[in-house]
Amino acid sequence: MSKPFTVAIDGPAAAGKGTISKAVAAHFGFGHLDTGLLYRAVGAKVMAGADAIEAAQALSADDLNVDGLRTAQVAQAASKVAVIAGVRAALLDFQRAYARRAGGAVLDGRDIGTVICPQAEAKLFVTASAEVRGKRRFDELMGRGEAAELAQVIEDVRARDERDAERVVAPMKAADDAQTIDTSDLSIAEAIAAAISAVEAVRGTA
Ligand code: C5P
Repeated sequence: MSKPFTVAIDGPAAAGKGTISKAVAAHFGFGHLDTGLLYRAVGAKVMAGADAIEAAQALSADDLNVDGLRTAQVAQAASKVAVIAGVRAALLDFQRAYARRAGGAVLDGRDIGTVICPQAEAKLFVTASAEVRGKRRFDELMGRGEAAELAQVIEDVRARDERDAERVVAPMKAADDAQTIDTSDLSIAEAIAAAISAVEAVRGTA
């Protein structure tokens, strides 16, 4: 087993973080943790009547494997529970332990390079214009057969970005030492290649 190596990938909703993170993890043979899923699982529990902090403290791996966590409603619920300091604190140790697992890890989220893993060996901030991101999320929802309107999806993405970027605790932002990749005009393959070469550049020296 090789020593720990953490790749932190942050950025706004639907910028391509998930796709890039999976590809980077597969390329280097690292594990991948989609940290948004933790907040989505807590958001879903709150929608079902649970207390947010209690739900975060009791979260288990099984809670991440339930259907329905990818809906627009759960995304909004996730970004509402994500402003609560006690929720974020309850999810911290799990994320940090995962980041230092033997063999390397890619974590994607909003505060990985700034709060969860400020010492990450490689940091990327993946972004794209709100219109491009809204359209991508819209296509994704259509692909899953969910009813949606493009203007509403763009508005939802904007509202979530604003809540994520303006919250007091661990706001979404690029770490000072993160490399930004704007995927607005990149194909999926180009975005993945840019991310892999950014990680490779540090991997060579780590
Ligand atoms: O990445 P995803 O869209 O699944 O994230 C859902 C929500 O979870 C985000 O809008 C954000 O509010 C929250 N989140 C967070 N910190 C992370 C990952 C996600 O606050 N590291």
